[in-house]
Amino acid sequence: MGLEATALPFGWPPALVASVAAALMASLGIVLVSTRPGVAERHRATLAALASGILLSTALFILPEAFAGSEAAPLAVLAGYFVFFTFGRFARRPHGRAFAAFFAIAAHSTIDGMEYGLLFSADPVAGLLGSVGLIIHEFSEGIVLLLILRTAKIPMVPAVLLALLGAAVTTPVGTLATLSVLPELSEENLALGLGFAAGALLFVGASQLPEEFGELGYRSAITAYAFGAIFAVVMMWTTHQHDHAHADEHAPGHFGSREHRH
Ligand SMILES: [Zn+2]
Repeated sequence: MGLEATALPFGWPPALVASVAAALMASLGIVLVSTRPGVAERHRATLAALASGILLSTALFILPEAFAGSEAAPLAVLAGYFVFFTFGRFARRPHGRAFAAFFAIAAHSTIDGMEYGLLFSADPVAGLLGSVGLIIHEFSEGIVLLLILRTAKIPMVPAVLLALLGAAVTTPVGTLATLSVLPELSEENLALGLGFAAGALLFVGASQLPEEFGELGYRSAITAYAFGAIFAVVMMWTTHQHDHAHADEHAPGHFGSREHRH
């Protein structure tokens, strides 16, 4: 397991801290939209655009690590992309929309939670950036689920509770599940997991969230999206400068809490 030693309140693995922060962010969105809808709506689109950019760049940065670790990684990336696409479509089905949305978003949030463990195992900066992007996007995710449930005429209190369960609680559950199996994963399976996570992040950053901030004016949308994307690239570059200076040109990745492969 490898969890027992680190799962104490002040020795939590960073992935767990990040996923609990994400759950709190989703909860904040849910509470805010149910108490002060104006404030929540004003910030939702901008936060979604910012998160989109960060997640898009993070996905691109972890792809080489995934591709270097397994030849089947492109399939894992596609699998991550299409699983999230399917959840997204399922959540929009007009019939039984509220329940479909609940299960689709709960499954999506559980996998979001799994991503924290994978990202931190690839690289601390990828973990941090992915976490920042994912935490910010949770604000929107909680709100989206609550709005769908409310549109289906579910009363406020049960709707809030269901949204908290589906969008917030599921994330740390996913992280705990991943952290418990990560130490036993082979290098190849870790690469496939990373590829899957990259595909999911790619979908969220390039497809799902851009639809959600559609109502944002074009200038704000482009600015926030590009700022998020460039912010992540600059963070990656500045924190990996040292490795760039010394890394073998042909080494697939400078990532690695694990053994380098060159
Ligand atoms: Zn998500």
